[in-house]
Amino acid sequence: MIIDVHTHINNYHEDRVASLEDCLNLLTETMIENKVDYSLVLSSYKVNEHRPSTKQVVEAIKGRNNLGVVSGISYLNYNHRDIREIGEYLERGLIKGLKFYPGYEPFYPNDTRLKVWYEMAIEYDVPVMFHSGDTYAPTGKVKYSHPLHIDDLAVDYPDLKIVICHVGNPWIRDCMEVVYKNQNVYADISGLVLGDFSEKFERFMKKEIEEMITYAGDPNYLLYGTDWPISNMKSYLKFMDQLELSDDKKDRILWKNAAELFKIDVTKL
Ligand SMILES: [Zn+2]
Repeated sequence: MIIDVHTHINNYHEDRVASLEDCLNLLTETMIENKVDYSLVLSSYKVNEHRPSTKQVVEAIKGRNNLGVVSGISYLNYNHRDIREIGEYLERGLIKGLKFYPGYEPFYPNDTRLKVWYEMAIEYDVPVMFHSGDTYAPTGKVKYSHPLHIDDLAVDYPDLKIVICHVGNPWIRDCMEVVYKNQNVYADISGLVLGDFSEKFERFMKKEIEEMITYAGDPNYLLYGTDWPISNMKSYLKFMDQLELSDDKKDRILWKNAAELFKIDVTKL
């Protein structure tokens, strides 16, 4: 069983417009090729012809029971209708979590303006995911996406379940401390590479992830994710395979932790 907690259907080749249906078909085909049973699709903090809204994604995945939606939230650009819509989706179980993009947008995770969203996530018991570490775009401001800032949020909201995306890369040490210290913080290993891992980079990252587990303990906090289509699914599974961990620990990372955290009913897959 494999659950990928971090995929996108944004069109990153902005010279052409791909339909949402085409993007979802490509995702599903790539999942089948790689024996991935379930994926979470993360919507963006901005909406345009290349980046579908949460509503568009929720409607487009109806009937595809191997996909779930995590709703991208902008720190500023929403109104009372958006809050109500997301609240309703949460109430009906149509979205599995909320995703924030510090770094891409200039705010720290423990920003009081986001209180309404965090309270909503606690009430419906869904995790909040944070972009963390390097920004894909040079226009990002990485002081906001440093994983250490997650600690403030984790302490102030002990009932909030938080995911540090990309293990805060390159600040993996800071991420491991925040995860180790706070019971309510998880991390996903997505987006460590653009495309395929080179052999050298795979060796480097293998050491980093193994160190994290040595320090922070049994990987009950670690989630498998790729950031597809930015990272290649096949190369990511090969990377997972190289980690020197027992099968039980690998299963925790590959699907068990995600199934519990996002309440994914694996008996229906
Ligand atoms: Zn991503």
